[in-house]
Amino acid sequence: MIYKVISKKEFRRFVDALVKSNNSFGPRQVDTDSQGSPVYQFKPVQSVEEIAFDYTATASSAKHLLLPFREELSRFAFHGDEWEQQTSYEADPVVLVGLRPCDISALNILDDVLLNSHFPSPYYLAKRKNTFVIGMDHLPLPDCFCKSMNHHTVTIGFNLFCSDIGENYYLSINSSKAFNFLKEFETREPNHDDNCLLVERRKLIQNSFQTEIDVTALPSILDIEFDSPVWEKWGQKCLNCGTCAMVCPSCYCYSLTESFDTDLKGARREKSLYSCNLVDFAVVAGGHNFRPKNGDRLKYRYYHQHRGFAENGNQQICVGCNRCGRACLSGINPKDVINDLRMEKESCLICVSSSPARI
Ligand code: SF4
Ligand code: SF4
Repeated sequence: MIYKVISKKEFRRFVDALVKSNNSFGPRQVDTDSQGSPVYQFKPVQSVEEIAFDYTATASSAKHLLLPFREELSRFAFHGDEWEQQTSYEADPVVLVGLRPCDISALNILDDVLLNSHFPSPYYLAKRKNTFVIGMDHLPLPDCFCKSMNHHTVTIGFNLFCSDIGENYYLSINSSKAFNFLKEFETREPNHDDNCLLVERRKLIQNSFQTEIDVTALPSILDIEFDSPVWEKWGQKCLNCGTCAMVCPSCYCYSLTESFDTDLKGARREKSLYSCNLVDFAVVAGGHNFRPKNGDRLKYRYYHQHRGFAENGNQQICVGCNRCGRACLSGINPKDVINDLRMEKESCLICVSSSPARI
């Protein structure tokens, strides 16, 4: 890693040049919510003026820029008795400005799943390697719990990371591309004062979290609480809408569909992001549903997020952004569900207040 300091004015000049010459996305205000607070999303940007550098958090993650909600994987052309498959993995370069540390951590988790596994995804690889990521630190929202998940800081997965140290940004440069782009702009080596400001900034962020979740030994608690009435309690509230998985930066489950063109001369295979909370997620041929109950489906989302990978010696895949909690119309959020499970465990199987009785 190489460190530099850049004035905020010069940084804006740098970002402006970058987004003007590349297909770029950054946080923009798209609406206001019922409380009058701004709603932000990652949207196309053509100039630095369009970027809300002081945004809080986007409602959806930037995941869909690398894992589109719907993506064509192949086309098929039929010629008499023959057929031909056309597949393209190409992706145009993209600049992503303003990702928070937890969102970059989520990209690192997606990299583990989609690049470093036995069956890497060439579609994801093409997009990921052509994406220039500029990260930016921020003070957490009251309900952010990324510190509990140890994702409030990040050291890999970006090209450039900016820490706000007042008049300037303290830059962590993590790629030769970023280093070379920056050569055209005025930067300097960090001095003693800059280093002190960086330490202060990190302390301020660290001490600003208002929400903490105790995730100690959570994978084994999930094992023990497999039959807990807590799942039924929260499942009864779930609307099976799938919103939580759509806004989540690390959910990646998908479905595949194949459809014929109306003239029957071709066909296409498409991938769509899916959610384990949707009613038909575990339906198999013949119509049997392995997870017919809301509580079962909700439970498996939590198992995937907090136990599946951790069990294999890796990590929980939830990064603590709480987008799912904010987006859920039923008020289901990781903090309450995990606290309920922990209370259930600690009360030695005496059910938490409103949970239905254990069958
Ligand atoms: S957003 Fe809430 S209601 Fe919708 S599927 Fe997720 S947990 Fe259920
Ligand atoms: S499960 Fe919820 S809190 Fe965790 S990463 Fe996904 S959206 Fe964020």
